[in-house]
Amino acid sequence: MTELNFLSKLVGSFSEGAAGNPTVAMVEAAFHHHKLEWRYINCEVPPEKLGDAVKGAKAMGWAGFNCSIPHKVTVIQHLDGLGESAAIIGAVNCAVSRNGKLIGENTDGKGFLKSLQEVADPKGKSVVMFGAGGAARAIGVEVALAGAKTITVVNRGKARGEEVAKLLNDKTSAKATYAPWVPGYAVPAGTDIVINATSIGLEDEKAKLDINLDSLKRGMVVADVIVNPPRPALIRDAEARGCTVITGRGMLVNQGVTGVKYWTGKDVDPEVMKKKLVEIFGM
Ligand code: NDP
Repeated sequence: MTELNFLSKLVGSFSEGAAGNPTVAMVEAAFHHHKLEWRYINCEVPPEKLGDAVKGAKAMGWAGFNCSIPHKVTVIQHLDGLGESAAIIGAVNCAVSRNGKLIGENTDGKGFLKSLQEVADPKGKSVVMFGAGGAARAIGVEVALAGAKTITVVNRGKARGEEVAKLLNDKTSAKATYAPWVPGYAVPAGTDIVINATSIGLEDEKAKLDINLDSLKRGMVVADVIVNPPRPALIRDAEARGCTVITGRGMLVNQGVTGVKYWTGKDVDPEVMKKKLVEIFGM
């Protein structure tokens, strides 16, 4: 007689604005496709409850969890240790239980890089990156480690922007500078790759980065981290100006594949995840 087992292995996500995060659908599609008896629980967790949420996950034997806005940096104090890239980046988007200890990893930057490399090699390139939060730190570090020549960090908050530029200068061979986000910021001529790593555009099709759109030139690669909506304003505007565009979907799928590998040890098919996102967003 087959032994019955009604106990699924658990992972999930802690964030604010969890209702708009499609990761659960994407990861569960992969679990289902590969017949993995796992569940991914999407949880709305405010900052003051994050410590309790992590303790709860530990108590319930979760194999790990993703964390998203606004927990990627603050979660570190609740974990038992950090993997190599998360330690450099200083942000965690994926915690993994290893021998009873929760270790923070970062798969955001790697997911982004994989998606960028499908259209352009960042080696020797000049990059302008908007944002200096968790996603920006991860992307900046990975793009720099992949050989970007210069990275200009443009951020609303000066202290955060300067901190990311310093991190890149200290830990990588890229030459990074902070540029204040002046109204109508013009992307400098000669820029190869422009990245929106802010949350501008999230769940708002009309929200625009305060930049001079005419400074986006044909031949530039313009990447956006936003997944929902699937084609935010920056992507539409850049495409209309002849730029090569990269949406946030590839980054999301690639980091999802890595997260599932960390938790379950299994390689899942990225096409299954992509298909689910297309089903949800229609593109
Ligand atoms: P954080 O909260 O850590 O950082 C947010 C960043 O956006 C900061 O640089 C902040 O600037 C900037 N920002 C927010 N609102 C504005 C505004 N109105 N004007 C100017 N700047 C603004 O978030 P994360 O870095 O974790 O996430 C950023 C985005 O990346 C989110 O939309 C998230 O959904 C997306 N993401 C996508 C992934 C994917 O797989 N595609 C993976 C991870 C994230 P300041 O410092 O001045 O506050």
